[in-house]
Amino acid sequence: MVKFKIHVHCADCAGAGVVSDGHPNDPSSRNVLCKECDGTGKDSFIDEMEYDSIADVIQDYPKAIGFTYVDSNPQLKNYTYIRKETK
Ligand SMILES: [Zn+2]
Repeated sequence: MVKFKIHVHCADCAGAGVVSDGHPNDPSSRNVLCKECDGTGKDSFIDEMEYDSIADVIQDYPKAIGFTYVDSNPQLKNYTYIRKETK
């Protein structure tokens, strides 16, 4: 059984890395660096659940960008599987 770190798009900026500091329709609003992700557009967290395989964790997180093996055998430990762009 394996634990994974789940990589997702930042919820605050939807992966853009920037957010508007005002209402989108306000012409004076500007795009500023997203404070939630420091402009990376990404977020990650460790799922405490253990999975049989990467296919199982993908089923739970169909929108995730990638998965890092956190707790597994030495060959795979810290290996990050990045999914192809899903649209
Ligand atoms: Zn963000």
